[in-house]
Amino acid sequence: MKSFLTLLTAALALAGCASSSPRADAEKNLAIIGTTVVQPEKDAAHAAMPDATVLIRGDRIVAVGPSATTKVPDGATRIDGRGRWLIPGMIDGHVHFFQSGNLYTRPDVADFNAVMPYAKEVARNQTRLPATFKVWLASGVTSVIDVGGPFWNFQVRDAANNSAAAPRVATTGPLISMVSREKLDLGDPPIVKVESADAARALVARELPYKPDFIKVWFVREPNDDLAKKEAIVKATGDAAHAAHIRLAVHATELDTAKAALRAGADYLVHSVFDDPIDDEFIALLRKNHALLSPTLFVTNGYRWALSNQWQATPEEMRLADPQILAAMHDLERMPKDKIPPRAAKLMAEHKPPPPPTVSLQNLKKLHDAGIPIVMGTDAGNIGTLHGPSVFREMALEHEAGLTPLEVLRTATTNGARAFGNADLGAIAPGKLADLVLLDADPLADVKNLSRAERVIKGGVVYDPKALIDSIR
Ligand SMILES: [Zn+2]
Repeated sequence: MKSFLTLLTAALALAGCASSSPRADAEKNLAIIGTTVVQPEKDAAHAAMPDATVLIRGDRIVAVGPSATTKVPDGATRIDGRGRWLIPGMIDGHVHFFQSGNLYTRPDVADFNAVMPYAKEVARNQTRLPATFKVWLASGVTSVIDVGGPFWNFQVRDAANNSAAAPRVATTGPLISMVSREKLDLGDPPIVKVESADAARALVARELPYKPDFIKVWFVREPNDDLAKKEAIVKATGDAAHAAHIRLAVHATELDTAKAALRAGADYLVHSVFDDPIDDEFIALLRKNHALLSPTLFVTNGYRWALSNQWQATPEEMRLADPQILAAMHDLERMPKDKIPPRAAKLMAEHKPPPPPTVSLQNLKKLHDAGIPIVMGTDAGNIGTLHGPSVFREMALEHEAGLTPLEVLRTATTNGARAFGNADLGAIAPGKLADLVLLDADPLADVKNLSRAERVIKGGVVYDPKALIDSIR
């Protein structure tokens, strides 16, 4: 995959992203005047500051105060914020750039190689990255954490950092896994099985030179597992990560594996527990580790909706998703019957709506009430969970679980910044990075309003969501 970065650089140039370089704007002044500033880290009585003005110089916020007393410097670019709400740029704590969200992106789950060779799908995902970056920004998401992919994930992070229209990207390398997924191995596999503590340490050592933001373990349970043996491998991985001052992120979706992951030192659980109601022991383990948790409430049903050919784009997805992906979401309708993988054929024949994620929703409420920091994360890239606007499906489910709109916003900003590991993100205050979203409706009245971005600002550079999407059509 050596040529990948060259390819991507060429694609970025073709996409015309370089029209406004963030560096060129370094000392420019920008003012958002007369807006309601939303500060999600504050309590409900103080989170909204009406008629406020925010001053930005270069890529940082330099002042936030009442419009009456906040002087706008001469020559500043002015944005009229009246009748609008300004929130911190949102953060998705769980995405995968090697996956597209379409039917062809996980042959280990549903093998469509007879219709679309997996190598072709991955090559498409690589060349399409400039567009994928833009759908994130257009959705008001200014930072994402990629929690697992091939080694070329690190080049994705570099490409995003060097692009004028991309979210900030934190990333892990390949998943250090308890199971193998041969169908995803094109020579630089996203999932690598380890069978011993030594093998785990060796894989961590291979990832360290790339400066991963997390080391990620895929703690997938199989029948007749020796759980204690696997916990020891996870602990060896965590110890090696921590020795290098890198946090350990773990996929563990059963109560027993999730507890084992925490005993082994997990700092970030990238899913909730899906199988059983959580208990006090689990909460105590999370507290002991000061661990963060991303519930990923939609992703499981995303697969079921898409593979049963019942997936429907939401209005936000119609407006903000990658049009190329949207156009392929109903390919099952056009596919010869003998090429449809058995799993999809079965789901199509059943034609039932998937069950609501009741256990996950109840677990989220319990975790939230216990004060565990919840991080909004979609697992975007998986089949049916599209990059960008799937955040609005996820946040609607967080609200359905019982979080208020302010609490939902906190998961996508204040807590997302903790997961990202950058204290300059996720808040509107002097000194913070100028990553902001200007909404034309009140996000504290209805979580749906989080999708109503008129302008998205990243590092002080202003983007029009509609123009971003029009540029990738
Ligand atoms: Zn994931």
